[in-house]
Amino acid sequence: MYIVQIASECAPVIKAGGLGDVVYGLSRELENQGNCVELILPKYDCMRYDHIWGLHDAYRDLWVPWYGGKVHCSVYCGWVHGRLCFFIEPHSEDNFFNRGCYYGCNDDNMRFAFFSKAALEFLLQSNKRPDIIHCHDWQTGLIPVMLFENYKYEMGLQRVCYTIHNFKHQGMGGKETLWATGLNNEPYYFTYDRLQDNFNPFALNFMKGGIVYANAVTTVSPHHAWEARCTEIGSGLGHTLHLHQDKFTGVLNGIDRDFWNPESDRYIPAHYSKENLEGKAETKKALRERLLLRDVDKPIVAYIGRLDAQKGVHLVHHAIYYALNNGAQFVLLGSATEPGINTHFQHEKAFLNENPDVHLELGFNEELSHLIYAGADMIIVPSNYEPCGLTQMIGLKYGTVPVVRAVGGLVNTVFDRDYDQTKPPEKRNGFVFEHSDEPAFESAMERAFKLWYNHPEEFRQLALQGMEYDYSWKDPGAEYLKIYDQIRHK
Ligand code: ADP
Repeated sequence: MYIVQIASECAPVIKAGGLGDVVYGLSRELENQGNCVELILPKYDCMRYDHIWGLHDAYRDLWVPWYGGKVHCSVYCGWVHGRLCFFIEPHSEDNFFNRGCYYGCNDDNMRFAFFSKAALEFLLQSNKRPDIIHCHDWQTGLIPVMLFENYKYEMGLQRVCYTIHNFKHQGMGGKETLWATGLNNEPYYFTYDRLQDNFNPFALNFMKGGIVYANAVTTVSPHHAWEARCTEIGSGLGHTLHLHQDKFTGVLNGIDRDFWNPESDRYIPAHYSKENLEGKAETKKALRERLLLRDVDKPIVAYIGRLDAQKGVHLVHHAIYYALNNGAQFVLLGSATEPGINTHFQHEKAFLNENPDVHLELGFNEELSHLIYAGADMIIVPSNYEPCGLTQMIGLKYGTVPVVRAVGGLVNTVFDRDYDQTKPPEKRNGFVFEHSDEPAFESAMERAFKLWYNHPEEFRQLALQGMEYDYSWKDPGAEYLKIYDQIRHK
């Protein structure tokens, strides 16, 4: 099959979070399973050019219709760790992708509406006719809309799979989006069964457009698919998902098995496997040396992730002091986009600076994240909501026991050692708590600490059981192929 992925991120060249990992990992797996995959991405000024091999201009004269005129674009082509990627660069005064950031501009909706339009024009003008277009999140929600309404006669039979990684950010526009992209017809699109936002009658909702028009819609775990449809976690799109439930499913994300592998990880000083865990102890020592933590007989608890309300930052903050007061060390690697949260953790870092049992690293650091995943004993994921979550899956792969809240993909991947009803004891792999409050979190942490201190052999066994799980892209890749196949033959 010939598949084109269109997205705003692809790790490691453009990565703000899990979306980048997923776009890269899935593409690679689809190729491994015998398909032809290409990616279309924006050409940001701030992306990691050092991860692109052989970048050259592939298509110089792409003219993209925009607001009744045309914007001149160049398309560059290069390989990102083996994946063939096309990067679109518009030459206009808007400077859409030369902002020194991926997201966070006032005109984000227009930036990505333009990208969506340009990606379709690129396919059209360069005569690319993939069997499947797979697009991701609100940034590309208008692609299925435009494909069906404006391009289907010129393009032929492309089917679209649309994957939602986070319902919180849906992409809102107004009538100017319609004029800019050439969709025009305001009364037609501003209707409840098309693009009109379910709560704001004056707004167009890009993500809703994606759901209504795509041939298949997925989100990133089965449990999150249920949550999005049936609870407030769908952020207002529950009813739309309900109406389109026949084409909506949850497919669990995977993690890249070469990139995240303690047997070959180039960022850790000693390799290890479930047959021989010695390297993990050595890595723990190296982590302590790197972060200037004292070398004592204590477990290391880690948090790696964005610091924002979604991730349960109040519990992350609480975890630092709970760990310190209960005989553990704590390591945090995270970056905050909200100034309030950032300031809070900056203060916390200054306050704890002299404490030899804690290290807070504020910022994004891929290499350090590997060392922490491998060197820590436990990893916490106390999210308010978590569509899939990669950190717990990476933790499991590195024999680092997850302590997680029972939401979204965490429900599909972590099974409580003491209370899980779905798995036999030898298949359980972590600690789970239900409510987003301190007592619930502490009860799970307490069980983890007690096991580490009082029954180290059993703790080790739990870590090994986690390492047994295969959360690679193999199964999810096959599942996506099944979905592609179904929509091709409808
Ligand atoms: P989300 O997509 O909501 O940010 P996920 O758990 O799905 O969360 O994916 C997070 C990914 O980003 C993981 O690969 C994690 O290791 C990585 N990550 C998050 N924060 C950082 C950071 N500060 N430094 C390095 N890697 C990070």
